[in-house]
Amino acid sequence: MNEVEKIDHAKELIAEAIQNYPRIGVACSFGKDSMVTVHIAREVDPKIHIFSVMTPYKPKESFEYLKFMNKKMNLAVTVFLVADSVPEILKDNAIKMVLLPTEEFKTKKAEVERISASDFYRVDPDECCRLLKVEPTKVAVSNLDAWITGLRCTEGRTRTDYEEVEEKGGLIKINPILTFTEAEIWRYMSTRGIEPHPWYALGYRSLGCEPCSGPGGELERDCRWQNTSKCGGECGIHTQTLKTLDSVN
Ligand code: SF4
Repeated sequence: MNEVEKIDHAKELIAEAIQNYPRIGVACSFGKDSMVTVHIAREVDPKIHIFSVMTPYKPKESFEYLKFMNKKMNLAVTVFLVADSVPEILKDNAIKMVLLPTEEFKTKKAEVERISASDFYRVDPDECCRLLKVEPTKVAVSNLDAWITGLRCTEGRTRTDYEEVEEKGGLIKINPILTFTEAEIWRYMSTRGIEPHPWYALGYRSLGCEPCSGPGGELERDCRWQNTSKCGGECGIHTQTLKTLDSVN
C-alpha cells in the first residue's frame, strides 16, 4: 500500500470499529504516532473519546505539549494519573483528570529504594510500569469495548508481529497505523501542520517517562529503558490483558 492507501485503510478500520463498538476510545501518549492516530480518528469522528495515561515521571514538556495540543485540537482529553492531586502544570478546564490511588506505588517504591539504594524505575521497571501505566490503562479501558492505539510494527524489536485488530479478554484493540513507517508519520504530521513534541528536535525517536527515554537508537524504541532488563521493550499495556471476560460490562 502507498501512503494514501494506508491512510484510507486506517480510516476504514476506525470507521468499522466505531460502528461495531460504540464504546471506543483512542489512547494518546502525545508522541508522534499517537498524534497521527488521533488526527486520523477525528477525521472519521471529530468527537471520538481521547484518553491519555500519564505518569509523574513524564517530562514537563509532555505535560505542556498535552495541554497545548488538547486546546489547539479541541481534543477534550481525559487524563488518568496516579497522583494525590492534579499537578499545577495540568490544571486546565479543558482537561478531564482522573486521579488514581498512590498508596501501592508509594509503598513499593519506598521498599525497593530502601533495599537497593537505587531508583525504583531502574531496579524494577516492570513493576513501576505496571503500577503507573498498566493498572491505570486498565481503569481507562474499563468502560470501553474497544480502544485504538498508535502502535507501529517497525518501532522496535517487540512490535513486529502485532495484528491490526486484536482481542484480549473481550477487549478489542485496533492498531490502524500498524504499517506506517517512521518517515510516513513525519510526512503526515508536516503536511497537516501538526507540530511535534519538542523532544523530537533533541534526537528522541520514542517518548516515554523522562528517566526511561533517551535520544538516538537504531530502532525507534532502542533507547527506552536503557541499561535495564527491559531495554527497548514494552511497558506492558500492549502485552498484558487489560480486561477479563468477567469484567466486560
Ligand atoms: S517508563 Fe520508567 S518511570 Fe515510567 S512507569 Fe515505566 S519504569 Fe516507571
